[in-house]
Amino acid sequence: MDYQRILEEIYREILPFAREGRAADYIPALAEVDPDQFGICIRTIDGATYCHERADVRFSIQSITKVFSLAMALGCEGDALWRRVGREPSGTAFNSLVQLEAERGVPRNPFINAGAIVVADVLAERFDDPEGRFLAFVRSLCGNDAIDYDDEVARSERATGYLNAAIANLLKYHGNLRGDIERVLRFYFLQCSVAMSCRDLACAFGPFADHRAPFVFGDVTLTASQVKRINAIMQTCGFYDEAGEFSFLVGLPGKSGVGGGIAAVCPQKYSVAVWSPRLNGKGNSVMGMKALELLTTRTEESIF
Ligand code: GLN
Repeated sequence: MDYQRILEEIYREILPFAREGRAADYIPALAEVDPDQFGICIRTIDGATYCHERADVRFSIQSITKVFSLAMALGCEGDALWRRVGREPSGTAFNSLVQLEAERGVPRNPFINAGAIVVADVLAERFDDPEGRFLAFVRSLCGNDAIDYDDEVARSERATGYLNAAIANLLKYHGNLRGDIERVLRFYFLQCSVAMSCRDLACAFGPFADHRAPFVFGDVTLTASQVKRINAIMQTCGFYDEAGEFSFLVGLPGKSGVGGGIAAVCPQKYSVAVWSPRLNGKGNSVMGMKALELLTTRTEESIF
């Protein structure tokens, strides 16, 4: 498969959409990023990489970090984790409060904000230094010790994170947040601020594309079955209330973030990361979605 040529063709084909959508601005620091950027990187499971455009520019991966925190929590809690967070698609926005109220503080899945805040609470309860542990895990997945939090983005989100604070309070009220609210939110916002390039992100998702290889990174160990189940949740819940559309158009497990990144895996073939800050109404990258739709159409490779 000539992935390099395919990436170049895809880029030419999606250029007409380059001005569609708007970058997220509810986190002020994200509004400062030049919205007219695009990068993509494919990494096959034997380690070959194919990049195009700005694949080495770092960006805020935001909710994509929810895959890493879930992996870490599943590694240490095992199935007990599912007592505190579900694994059903939510069909609502990533920051919705309504469902959480109706379902008495048990978030639908770990990839909406409420679920990820519960996962952050689990990690904060288990580790003295959850920030350090989380970063070590992500660095190990990327094979890059230069990966770091972006304190400016985290500060910016903390200063305006009213909705996430409301979610955390609702969780606390229903007894599903055990730690101190401020403490857990501090970790959650810092977790979301992790910055990396498409090249790093494709590398970080490599182990999810290859569940047959041992998953041992930092001090996180997962079984093949746990890795496959994380992929299953990406497939059903990775794009908030656009998960069905992503499954229909792209057909790969994946996860998006409001920074404009999307990471996806084609099991036993490759992981792919794409980035472009302009988002559609559901909070997913316009060019990112288009690029991946064309990729799986051209290659005729998807999970279906
Ligand atoms: N940090 C963001 C938030 O909590 C992440 C949301 C996202 O990427 N969808 O609102």
